[in-house]
Amino acid sequence: MHTDIVVIGGGSGGYATALRAAELGKRVIVVERDKVGGTCLHRGCIPTKALLHVAETVDAVREAAGLGVLAELQGVDVSRMHAFREGLVAKKHKGLQGLLKARGIEVVAAEGTIAGPGRVRAGETEILATNIVIATGAYTRVPPGLEIGGRVLSSEQALELGEIPASVIVLGGGVIGVEFASLWRSLGAEVTIVEALDHLVPTEDETLRTQLARAFRKRGIQTRLGARVATAAQDDSGVSVQLEDGASLTADYLLVAVGRGPATTGLGLEEAGVRLDRGFVVTDVDLRTSVEGVWAVGDVVVGPQLAHRGFQHGIQVAERIAGSTPAPVADELVPRIVYTSPELASVGLTRAQAEERHGVDAITVLDYNLAGNARTEILGGSGSVRVIRKTDGPVLGVHLAGPRVGELISEAQLVVGWDAHPEDVAPLVHAHPTQSEALGEAFLALAGKPLHVL
Ligand SMILES: Cc1cc2nc3c(=O)[nH]c(=O)nc-3n(C[C@H](O)[C@H](O)[C@H](O)COP(=O)(O)OP(=O)(O)OC[C@H]3O[C@@H](n4cnc5c(N)ncnc54)[C@H](O)[C@@H]3O)c2cc1C
Repeated sequence: MHTDIVVIGGGSGGYATALRAAELGKRVIVVERDKVGGTCLHRGCIPTKALLHVAETVDAVREAAGLGVLAELQGVDVSRMHAFREGLVAKKHKGLQGLLKARGIEVVAAEGTIAGPGRVRAGETEILATNIVIATGAYTRVPPGLEIGGRVLSSEQALELGEIPASVIVLGGGVIGVEFASLWRSLGAEVTIVEALDHLVPTEDETLRTQLARAFRKRGIQTRLGARVATAAQDDSGVSVQLEDGASLTADYLLVAVGRGPATTGLGLEEAGVRLDRGFVVTDVDLRTSVEGVWAVGDVVVGPQLAHRGFQHGIQVAERIAGSTPAPVADELVPRIVYTSPELASVGLTRAQAEERHGVDAITVLDYNLAGNARTEILGGSGSVRVIRKTDGPVLGVHLAGPRVGELISEAQLVVGWDAHPEDVAPLVHAHPTQSEALGEAFLALAGKPLHVL
């Protein structure tokens, strides 16, 4: 078999590479050992958000009486909840398979390894290719002394859990941990998060970290910050976890969500001369590896592990291979959303990063409380908008907390990505009443003409 491009891994990064390359007239083969769509479609973004929508509906029913709607929560039918999740995933999987086929992309169902320069082994088949793209994604990291199985879950088992647990310990307060904590709490579980650092979602701006901590406290989610697990044991009735500070916790289940490492072992990368750093594939800004004709996209490249970053990597590599010069993906400009209740969304620099890069006196930070936003109040939520600008310069970062604020990040992303000054965007009108007005208010205030703020 000979082709222009062989992609190892058919997840967000891999299939995006294939789709764009085929569009540009390249012959592409995708080698996928499981299912095209990868983690995001089958075990990540889509199924988690399906379950979080169930959680949001449960919360809405609980709060309905306050709006005069006489609905009573009788419970959650777990099998129907999973049928909803599985139905969604199956539909999207079918759609993706159809799209790949329609673009003439061949998918080889096999484990792929690099056999040598321009050679990929896919099961019994050898594929010769001018370009090889590594898109094998990431795996759940498990701390020493713990093992996934039984009542100790990774996010994969957690998604498919056949019951709503009465209690869960979540190990790790990063994005995956807090999303499951939020989900299970809404479904009625007692949840305790154990996080080694001093904050939940530690990479986010302080204002988002504080608001999430406050909201979780109000919702009855327990947190043990600055705490590490020493040992964990399980039996038929539950798990018990001993913390290094001597405290012990018990629950029905333990979710391990301490991060995801690059899935690069056993691929023949080092043998082929591809340089790795702590398992991540080392690339230049154009996503070329240390070996000519070998590229890498998505979670195997160090940076934010997000599906939309993988899509953009794929587009970039396909266009490079086809001979054009697309702009590199800037990790800083990749929007981030944490789908908890309340949602968090951000793009660009945090306050700490902006201060470090430009100096404390060279930036201006504006916080707008969503209590002043009518639509947020109608939705029964609270939160805030933080906009950070270089004083007399462009917007450097936007950080949002509140109901459904993930949908607002696209505007912020354009403003930050285009290096817009608040004065450039302040005259652009936001519809009323919308939550997006809060962003408009923040830009107006930073442009020196606050409307609804003092
Ligand atoms: C619980 C959870 C929730 C998430 N939620 C979000 C979210 O809301 N938004 C978001 O943007 N991101 C989310 N993510 C992250 C997102 O899923 C990843 O960033 C994204 O899937 C990375 O794409 P990728 O192509 O690099 O890897 P993957 O999607 O992991 O794809 C890699 C593919 O390679 C295949 N593969 C691996 N090795 C081989 C081999 N040797 N041969 C053949 N095939 C191989 C795998 O089977 C897999 O299909 C979430 C992740 C998890 C775990």
